[in-house]
Amino acid sequence: MAPRVRLFLWRVVHDGLPLAATLDRRINTGSPYCSVCSQGVEDPNHLLFMCDFARRCWLLGPIPIRTDRLTGSVKENLEYLASATPEEDWSSIGNVIWAIWRVRNARTYQGIAPTHEQFLGFLTGIQEETRLAQAMDKGRKMREENSNLRDAQQEVTTDSSCYVDGSWGGGWMGGMGYVIIKGGTLLQYGAAPTNASSPLQAEAGALKEAVKQVVSLGLHSCTFFSDSLTLVQAVSQYQPPIDVDWKAYGEIHQMWLAAKRNREWVFCHINRDQNVIADKLAKLGRIEGDRIVGHRYPIY
Ligand SMILES: [Zn+2]
Repeated sequence: MAPRVRLFLWRVVHDGLPLAATLDRRINTGSPYCSVCSQGVEDPNHLLFMCDFARRCWLLGPIPIRTDRLTGSVKENLEYLASATPEEDWSSIGNVIWAIWRVRNARTYQGIAPTHEQFLGFLTGIQEETRLAQAMDKGRKMREENSNLRDAQQEVTTDSSCYVDGSWGGGWMGGMGYVIIKGGTLLQYGAAPTNASSPLQAEAGALKEAVKQVVSLGLHSCTFFSDSLTLVQAVSQYQPPIDVDWKAYGEIHQMWLAAKRNREWVFCHINRDQNVIADKLAKLGRIEGDRIVGHRYPIY
């Protein structure tokens, strides 16, 4: 589960949310009503489970659940859902709750009318953050299992990780996206348009830019995760890469040299589904031509 969802659930259970009913009870605002439906009283149980809007959200979520059958307090209902769901799906429950909360806040603080499309948008965002957190764990495991991708002297545990991806859709323009993580927290992410005339050149250009960002952040030790196996093998191999796509040769050769000079840079292959956020950012860089740098969740 994403750390901030876990923290949020703790606040739900401990009555730590600034809900209309809570505020009315404490400072007598005179309006305890639900900001989403204006019908019920906005306490945690109503907002997250009983509200008509929330009920529909639960049915639209990854594990459809009929919350109108829940009968306990918010804490009891959460405990019941946890007991009725396999542990690997707990994050899905947390994410639905989180997304409902985001819709409610958009209504309360920005006056945006709640829609289920908006709910699904928030849900997708937090699901991808969860996947990123899981990919970080998997990446760590893969490095342990898949050490043949690097030479033995590069066997180091790095302080930081960088997920990087390139995007190419034909022509001369590509895009790059990266996410840099240190000590389990997001340090920086970014997207930018790049010059690229082949998929591998887009990947290599993205890696080159990501290395530049890592250096500019003062990180000396980093594992770079890319879903391009060709690229990871080319920059990790002992011999200079000579038989790669000539369009990407320049970038790859530079990265290969840089990798030889810095033993604390490790290049690791991951699957595409473990690189979702960098991929999204790369497409943003390519299609929108956006140059983005950010330091906080949500990423987009
Ligand atoms: Zn309501």
